[in-house]
Amino acid sequence: MSFSGERKRSSPCSGGVVAYVGLGSNLNGPVDQVTCALDELGEIPDSCCFACSRLYSSKPMGSLDQPDYVNAVAGLSTRLEAYALLEHLQRIEAVHGRIRQEHWGPRTLDLDLLLYGEQVIDTATLKVPHPGLHLRAFVLYPLREIAPAALHVPGRGILNRLVEQCPEPGPALSLLGNGRG
Ligand code: ADP
Ligand code: MG
Repeated sequence: MSFSGERKRSSPCSGGVVAYVGLGSNLNGPVDQVTCALDELGEIPDSCCFACSRLYSSKPMGSLDQPDYVNAVAGLSTRLEAYALLEHLQRIEAVHGRIRQEHWGPRTLDLDLLLYGEQVIDTATLKVPHPGLHLRAFVLYPLREIAPAALHVPGRGILNRLVEQCPEPGPALSLLGNGRG
């Protein structure tokens, strides 16, 4: 298995739950929003960010009358409970000036808790695995960059199979955000 080309990858820090976070932005300098948010994920207490994917570019879901997205996925080891981690994600979204308007509308920063270990949580405020994880190329491809190919997604199967079965084509790498082009 090759991990060449990813932004950053090290061993998960000891003692925590491995969680994966999806990042997306299509407003106010999306590359900077996502790059800055990756740094901020590394500052969440009782957690460490052990991997960041490269940045990808994807078409918006919902209304196409909005800019393309920049997406990435980060891997965290955390001692926080899932809801506490979600609160930190929402705090970082708020710092980036996110205003919740239309569903799937444009946003400065969207942080989704994709996976929290193998836990299954299904409440109004938190659903993990994230309900769209297995369908979205802009989540699956960057996740595969930094996670083990045999990662088990509860209720959905093995990550590599999910990528193979993904109904969407693979997203393009963001030419702006990866020091290329
Ligand atoms: P989407 O990411 O699907 O476009 P939003 O970011 O606007 O939607 O949705 C945020 C809401 O979703 C929050 O109120 C949060 O409580 C809830 N939510 C449920 N599961 C998750 C999850 N796994 N990650 C992030 N937010 C979640
Ligand atoms: Mg979200």
